[in-house]
Amino acid sequence: MRMDVLTLFPEMFEGVFQSSILGKARDKGLVALNAINFREYAGNKHGMVDDTPYGGGGGMVLKPDPIFHAVEDLLGREGTESTGRAPRIILMCPQGETFTQRKAEELAQEEHLIFICGHYEGYDERIREHLVTDELSIGDYVLTGGEIPAMTVIDSVTRLLPGVLGNETSAVTDSFSTGLLEYPHYTRPVEFRGWKVPDILLSGHHANIELWRRREALRRTWLRRPDLLERLELSKDDMAWLKKLENEAEQ
Ligand code: SAM
Repeated sequence: MRMDVLTLFPEMFEGVFQSSILGKARDKGLVALNAINFREYAGNKHGMVDDTPYGGGGGMVLKPDPIFHAVEDLLGREGTESTGRAPRIILMCPQGETFTQRKAEELAQEEHLIFICGHYEGYDERIREHLVTDELSIGDYVLTGGEIPAMTVIDSVTRLLPGVLGNETSAVTDSFSTGLLEYPHYTRPVEFRGWKVPDILLSGHHANIELWRRREALRRTWLRRPDLLERLELSKDDMAWLKKLENEAEQ
């Protein structure tokens, strides 16, 4: 998997791309991560990439030509087209589709992703209309630029790539991957300030532990994100457990 980010602030990515799991994935050759300054494609001696909006009003708008040229240069580079699959070109944008774990899973199947980070008031509409394949928002709030949103997407996609996480099962049981919020975790000591680890987790009985985890995941989801349960296929046991929770709450 290769991910390229077009940004005016490539230095923001240095720490993120070199640290922790992303840094290790890169060192192992599981992912190639590059931040490219699209000011290099400005095509004018002042390196100007933005301009005032037609029709007036405040703020500066990113011009189309530097971003189109940067993407076209990436597409033309040797090694990019050889995969045979066209890259996804993703505009980070508060008006885009809200990013979810499902979207991360979908993007993790691709071979090449190109992210475009906006800044200032926004970007020329022709970028949205004629260049990108996806528009992604990380939530209903506005940041100063698309860099932190792009880092968010890149991090969540990278951890889903085969071989990136040490324990392969950890991405499978994560919140949202199963459709539920994840069950609670405990580690040593068995008793801390009088608060004990649930006995079942010390029992060594794997089937009972699995059942407890499933039920606690259901309980947590029911309490915090009941909307997730509506989209989930529930077993008879799941439904009986949720009914029990509802009855207990009513008493
Ligand atoms: N004027 C724009 C609007 O109202 O939709 C907001 C522009 S914002 C200040 C500058 C850039 O930050 C955007 O072009 C986008 O790349 C990025 N950005 C801000 N909030 C974002 C979000 N929630 N998700 C993804 N990108 C975001």
